[in-house]
Amino acid sequence: MTGDLTARDDPVRSDRGDGPEIAVVGAGAVGVTAAYDLARRGADVTVYDSGAVASGSSGRAAGVCYDAVATEPAATLAREAIERFRALSGPETFAFHPCPYVWLAREGDAEHADAIASGLDRMADHGVPAGRIEPSALAGRFPALRADDVAVAGVTEGAGYADPGAYTACLAENAVAEGATLATHTPVTVETDPPRVVPQDGSSRAVGGVLVAAGAHSKRLLAAAGVPIAMKPYRVQALVTAADVTEPMWYDATAGCYARPHPDGLLAGNGTEAVEADPDTYDRDANPEFAASLTDRLVHRLPDLQPDVQRAWAGLCTATPDREPLVGRLREGLYVATGFQGQGFMRAPATGRRIAEQLLGGSGIDAFDPTRFSGDESFRVREGMSVTDE
Ligand SMILES: Cc1cc2nc3c(=O)[nH]c(=O)nc-3n(C[C@H](O)[C@H](O)[C@H](O)COP(=O)(O)OP(=O)(O)OC[C@H]3O[C@@H](n4cnc5c(N)ncnc54)[C@H](O)[C@@H]3O)c2cc1C
Repeated sequence: MTGDLTARDDPVRSDRGDGPEIAVVGAGAVGVTAAYDLARRGADVTVYDSGAVASGSSGRAAGVCYDAVATEPAATLAREAIERFRALSGPETFAFHPCPYVWLAREGDAEHADAIASGLDRMADHGVPAGRIEPSALAGRFPALRADDVAVAGVTEGAGYADPGAYTACLAENAVAEGATLATHTPVTVETDPPRVVPQDGSSRAVGGVLVAAGAHSKRLLAAAGVPIAMKPYRVQALVTAADVTEPMWYDATAGCYARPHPDGLLAGNGTEAVEADPDTYDRDANPEFAASLTDRLVHRLPDLQPDVQRAWAGLCTATPDREPLVGRLREGLYVATGFQGQGFMRAPATGRRIAEQLLGGSGIDAFDPTRFSGDESFRVREGMSVTDE
């Protein structure tokens, strides 16, 4: 058992198991956070996963977390999540490593430079403690990072990284300690009216609420229940290379790549495929050319880097038409949390808590209401970290 989170968390009244019976589909970062918060608030929760805890995207994510978000209410949620990462982490729970996050555009890339500059203005408007940093100051503060080609850069101290698998395992264990039941290796389907989940052995019973937090499978699962959602899974790639870099985390918008320190050196990624992927059959291995193409871009930004790629992989993110997530009520007793555009891990501590509160009668987040789309929209997959509308 990893450490007890409750002592570090905000106090909530919990009459264990006296609340409604809730089924959560998906033991990823979002599902187990919701389960933990539901159980702490007295719900009788069962979490189902077709595999192990964190066997979906949460076990393949980079773990980059930051509050530098230019739109509300996503900025508030991002800030809440960072605060909760800080509060819950520790030697006995999971590690959250505070680390500044820099995002930048190169000289000659006016589109990204303008987008970063206007994004910083909007962040200032709603109190995000991020600011512009001049290239000379960037070079002075982070000598490993090439800055002589930088047109515009932002930096925030409200950032850090965590191992998504470790966070998810910790929250799952604490959900169980709070009284939740964890049913791993148990694929389920969902039915509505009344809401219920149906494991493959056919056993099922109506519950007070179902939360579909099934990551890239959420669309398929809900479509089979006759509930379309406007979401498309898309494939991204990442790698770990040997390196001697301690900070910052950074995103080069011109090159379309990011990196953060990792116990084995550097974790870096992108390689977004802007097409819908099949969550059952997508290629989990990185493309053969991915490592060489990415390390070229890493060396551009970190000229002293001598890449030695240890491993590379692919995983899925989920896109929506407006690049905001689908979090909330779909119909009576049926809720969803997906569509995080590559930022689902960094918001999980706040998203899980908010959807748990909504399931127990609280208000949802209007801007994330999944019914703002009918589910049959045609839209392009656009990468989540991008600072422009493209
Ligand atoms: C390479 C890569 C890098 C990333 N980097 C970052 C990052 O730096 N920061 C960040 O914030 N995000 C990042 N992401 C995105 C992040 O991984 C996701 O947004 C986040 O993990 C979503 O969590 P989740 O709980 O919604 O879904 P998941 O972790 O995918 O969990 C869904 C679970 O549902 C289960 N499931 C599916 N269907 C069924 C069924 N029928 N019955 C039972 N269980 C089912 C799956 O097995 C899975 O375990 C990255 C993703 C990838 C692939």
